[in-house]
Amino acid sequence: MTYSYISHVYCPKCRETYHHQTIQHVCHCGSPLLVSYDLLALKNEVDRSQLLKRRHPSLWRFHELLPVIKKDHIISLGEGMTPLIEMSSVSETLNIANVYMKDEGMLPTGTFKARGAAVGISKANELGVTHIAMPTNGNAGAAWTQYAARAHMSATIVMPKDAPMVTRHECSLAGADVYVVDGLISDAGQIVQQAIKDYHLYDASTLKEPYRIEGKKTMGLEIVEQLGWEVPDVIIYPTGGGVGLIGIFKALKELQTLGWIDAHKMPRLVAVQAEGCAPIVEAWKKGKREATFWENAETIAFGINVPKALGDFLILDALYDTSGCAISVADEEIMYAQSFVAKEEGAFICPEGASAFAAMRKLKDSEWIKPEENVVILNTGIGLKYSNIETNDVTMLENEEKIELPVKS
Ligand SMILES: *Cc1c(COP(=O)(O)O)cnc(C)c1O
Repeated sequence: MTYSYISHVYCPKCRETYHHQTIQHVCHCGSPLLVSYDLLALKNEVDRSQLLKRRHPSLWRFHELLPVIKKDHIISLGEGMTPLIEMSSVSETLNIANVYMKDEGMLPTGTFKARGAAVGISKANELGVTHIAMPTNGNAGAAWTQYAARAHMSATIVMPKDAPMVTRHECSLAGADVYVVDGLISDAGQIVQQAIKDYHLYDASTLKEPYRIEGKKTMGLEIVEQLGWEVPDVIIYPTGGGVGLIGIFKALKELQTLGWIDAHKMPRLVAVQAEGCAPIVEAWKKGKREATFWENAETIAFGINVPKALGDFLILDALYDTSGCAISVADEEIMYAQSFVAKEEGAFICPEGASAFAAMRKLKDSEWIKPEENVVILNTGIGLKYSNIETNDVTMLENEEKIELPVKS
């Protein structure tokens, strides 16, 4: 039986095609490349019910729709099949029929970056790569260095000095060469590009290799499967580089082509950004097909602090194509949503995930989301990764003093 139905790699801009058996980065026209599968053959040979039978509950259950050709090349830490949790208190408060949270904080390294890293490193492993390099806002580096370590590959990482401290530790503990720059991810990116040229390293930057999207695509596959092969009305995604959103859209398209889901119902995709860094929102409002560089980008939601995304046109295409939208939220709204979800649902989500909850509230208020609709929110990471957030509403007890707690019943 065919393990992967990958057929080739292609450019979504100029349609040039490339082989998948050799290393590929971006198209000669500069665009990111996407992976194509022989969906017709897959449709004829595999039934979706087979995925549920005797398959390990990881994202590799979807191996036919993933790019790794030989099972032996897979580098796995058990990633995938995160829970889709009903948020009944939240949905009641906002008066929305169903709100589900796909909790990506449960993945290895605590964020959904593990999906992209698992598939990206596995494919790099298959292609004989020995040394990767990438800029990171923290979480991607953390995930890619762990998987690189497991594959016995070297890794060179450049990150902004404001990236969450724990991610620095994760990268360096995994044996990577870690460099910290006083700047943004775009500055880190320029340094990495030079190192790649000088030392012939494998460019694992966001969308500079075609396989990270394929890993993130599995969020879309899992959501649909977990909803019994039905699609929700709305999917809300905290968007930085937009890889997850592009991946989810690609997954839905592939499932439609396979006839595994209704060909006529597409969820409306929502890209959420922070007010301090909202290039996609600005482009979407103006109906543009590409975004412009966002000056002085700043937000507490570090994973979405991306001033210019290489795949901006793919993100915007997905929004236009699904009648979705882009919306920004303030850092205060993000912090409020984070504590609201923790208090109401007992889930300590990351600021990026919280931004999606804040956006949902706004979209419900403006009636873009209707009361009868089903909404899926991606919580892209675990709140624990951002341990530098301060807590003020605790009571300090004096030492050696007998104190009666004013416990409320
Ligand atoms: C990277 C990251 C994002 C943004 O992901 P993209 O798919 O690149 O837009 C969101 N949340 C967290 C926690 C991240 O680490």
